[in-house]
Amino acid sequence: MVDNLILAQSAKEAARLKGSNNKSAYLAGGTEINRLGSTINARTLISIGRVKELDGIREEDDAILIGSMCTFQDIIESPLTPAYLKEACLFMGSRTKRNMATIGGNIALRRTDSYLYATLLACAAKLTLMGKSGKTETRCVCCYLHKYEELKDLLITEIRVPKDAKVQTKRYSNTVQSHAVLTVAVGETPWCEKSSLRIAVAAKNTALTRLDDISEAMEQKELTDEEIIKNLKANKELKFKSDIYGSPEYKRYLLAVTINDLYRKVRGGQG
Ligand SMILES: Cc1cc2nc3c(=O)[nH]c(=O)nc-3n(C[C@H](O)[C@H](O)[C@H](O)COP(=O)(O)OP(=O)(O)OC[C@H]3O[C@@H](n4cnc5c(N)ncnc54)[C@H](O)[C@@H]3O)c2cc1C
Repeated sequence: MVDNLILAQSAKEAARLKGSNNKSAYLAGGTEINRLGSTINARTLISIGRVKELDGIREEDDAILIGSMCTFQDIIESPLTPAYLKEACLFMGSRTKRNMATIGGNIALRRTDSYLYATLLACAAKLTLMGKSGKTETRCVCCYLHKYEELKDLLITEIRVPKDAKVQTKRYSNTVQSHAVLTVAVGETPWCEKSSLRIAVAAKNTALTRLDDISEAMEQKELTDEEIIKNLKANKELKFKSDIYGSPEYKRYLLAVTINDLYRKVRGGQG
């Protein structure tokens, strides 16, 4: 139960308070925290809604920098946002929710039916994180996922996405308001060290992950659906289960044909 609300006046204050209270959470748009049956269990909420430095979208060299308090609707409406990120923000069907939900909150939640993760992983987005001393560090979004236990108290202050990435994303759900069983993204990004091609998936109740074996193989040559399925079967993170969305075989098939379809669009220059 929440019994304390603090209105932070600066990013430094918010990060310091969070770092010194392990029963606290940042209150951004509140769409998850204030939801009935929320997964977040905090006694103290540190509201970051008044922190001006977390707002705004700007351009710097080859990047677009998005303040973590930007809502999905802010991102859609900005002329600076790359089209691939606007498309992902539009996966959130409710305009009311888009006006409240922030990109920082979405990243921190790491939901396996995330609207944004597949796209952010495919473009190799980077996060600026602030610790309790006020010092900032930059981590790629993939690193944030893998090292979450170490990084979870840090305040996400800014998200950097490449201007010139080509990313195609596909989301599968019964209706726009339903949870997505799969959200798949294929991207060609200038920010990769190993290969320019990045493939990522948000698979409900299964994993949020990059598919590096497949992207490295597809960097050399196009794979058949069967070859991708074989690779997916061997993937230790993607342990699909049977549920209302289908069998593991069906999900692997859907993922494989979608990867090939998006790959052709990206390589065909329609990204
Ligand atoms: C009915 C319903 C359906 C939903 N369906 C989906 C869905 O299908 N896919 C999906 O991705 N999301 C879904 N959501 C979750 C949510 O709306 C979004 O993920 C939203 O982007 C969360 O942002 P927020 O600003 O509202 O976060 P809040 O609720 O304010 O905070 C959520 C968490 O993020 C942390 N946090 C917030 N900002 C920061 C920051 N700057 N730095 C570090 N940590 C931070 C908080 O500590 C808290 O733990 C749904 C929510 C509802 C109510």
